[in-house]
Parts: sequence; C-alpha cells; structure tokens
Amino acid sequence: MSDPTFNAPGITDMERDELRRHGILLTGLEELYNWGRSHSVWPLNFGLACCAIEMIAASMAKFDIARFGSEVFRPSPRQADLLIVSGTVTKKMAPQVVRLWNQMPEPKYCIAMGACAISGGPFKQGYNVLKGIDRFIPVDIYIPGCPPRPEALLHGLVQLQEKIRNQAISGPAAPRHLQAEADCNCPIPECGAHDIEPTRNDALWPKPPELLRPTKT
Ligand code: SF4
Repeated sequence: MSDPTFNAPGITDMERDELRRHGILLTGLEELYNWGRSHSVWPLNFGLACCAIEMIAASMAKFDIARFGSEVFRPSPRQADLLIVSGTVTKKMAPQVVRLWNQMPEPKYCIAMGACAISGGPFKQGYNVLKGIDRFIPVDIYIPGCPPRPEALLHGLVQLQEKIRNQAISGPAAPRHLQAEADCNCPIPECGAHDIEPTRNDALWPKPPELLRPTKT
C-alpha cells in the first residue's frame, strides 16, 4: 500500500505543516484524489429493517452526516457508491441486495450495519435469514450493535474514509476497481426449493475446512 502522506524529497513533515500554515499545499496526486473521494461518498437510499431508522437518524440535523460529505443519499444505485446494509437480510431479499450491489458503479463500498447484516443477529438461527451479507458481497466496514446508534454509523463512515485515503491508485496493491482483470460483479443467488442457491459466494466466503463433511475411508 502506498504512503498516503506524500512528501516531496527533502521536505520533512514539520516543514510541510509549516508550509500549510502559510497557505501552501504540497501534495501528491494520490493523496488529492483519495481525499476528494473520501469526502464525497454517496450512500444508496436503501434500508431493510430497524437499523435503517438509525441510518435515517444519522442524516437528520442532530447527527448530520453532511459534515462528512455523505448527505447525498441517492435513490438509484447507478449514482451511489456506498451500500449500507442496514437491517435483517432475509433469504428472499438477498438476491435483490446483490443485484443492487452489482448495479452500483465502481469504486463502491459496503458497510454492514448491525448484528443482522453482519451475522443474522437475533434471527441467526432462523430458516429464512442470511447469516451475514458478507457471504455474497464484499464488506468493507462492520458496525456491531442491535441497533448501532447513529454515532456508530458515523464512526464506521470515518473508518471507511480512512480506508479510501490509504488506497493506492496504481501498482499491485491497487483496489479492485483499478484492476482491469478483476470481476466487480457478484453472482446473484436464486430462491431454490429449500434454500437460496448458491448459499454463498465461494470467492468471498469459502467454506471453512472444519465444516466440510469428512469423507468415508
Ligand atoms: S441488528 Fe437489531 S436493530 Fe438492526 S435490524 Fe437486526 S434486529 Fe433490528
């Protein structure tokens, strides 16, 4: 991963800060590009259950997600770059969530908000609830809680901004959207006779070896 705090050769951090105090900004393209992206993350206007109420509260005046540049909740996945999975993901709803994810343009990010989105939460043992959205789409930030408060969502957003600021824009450590050969779409599960099929995206969530059935010898 590249160093986000670009320094011109021969310039120390102290000298850089001193220049900043005099209104002279010394930076690199990577830092500038990531700084801009990290402060303009537009979430999809989408919620699933009670956690969504906390997400909505985060956008209201008291918590004011606008302070972090993310007040523009977009009604179309084509215009959003953050999917906040806020609530219980039923198996009936899972294909729709993955479809929305696929319709979002890269670079895109996902926050799993609350115990339900992370693991199924209080419904984990239910026959109809997904045990974590990360079985189907890549999750960048997990926010525990039932429900997490709006402050927790804001903290998760700040963590995501930090992650974006630290991304390389070239080289082998470049993120998915900058690698031409990387497939950015996730397979969409279908409702089968007894369960959704497939039950997981093996590229994201390989079955742990201990869960594989022992073969008879
Ligand atoms: S984690 Fe709790 S508050 Fe959030 S959707 Fe699940 S049950 Fe509701």
